Amino acid sequence: MSGEPQNDCLFCRIVAGEIPATIVHETETTVAFRDINPQAPTHILVIPKAHYENAAALAAEAPQAAADVLAETKAVADAEGLDSYRLVFNTGSGAGQTVWHAHAHVLGGRGLQWPPG
Ligand code: IMP
Repeated sequence: MSGEPQNDCLFCRIVAGEIPATIVHETETTVAFRDINPQAPTHILVIPKAHYENAAALAAEAPQAAADVLAETKAVADAEGLDSYRLVFNTGSGAGQTVWHAHAHVLGGRGLQWPPG
């Protein structure tokens, strides 16, 4: 069920402290940690602690948590000293989503091209 921790969800297990992660910041409702396979000098994932399968479900079912995630991306970018950065929410397998717990990618520290692939 949306919002509830899922035993088979990697990011729920990071929230629970069962799987190690390089956590850079945590709030009551969010966790930010470094991506294990960084695509830029700064590549941080910001997730809601509650489980929603992707950004679409998060926006529809928990708009306050979605706002918390967005606010946290700015806090993380500021802490990393990023003037320019990109936020990505891969939503659905066709868009490259591989982990089914909503997450924002915060990418920065190098020039980023547009359009993305
Ligand atoms: P997605 O492809 O948008 O779903 O992004 C999932 C991201 O999670 C990818 O960038 C992965 O590198 C990252 N990832 C997968 N497992 C871990 C982990 O254990 N710690 C940190 N990042 C992870």
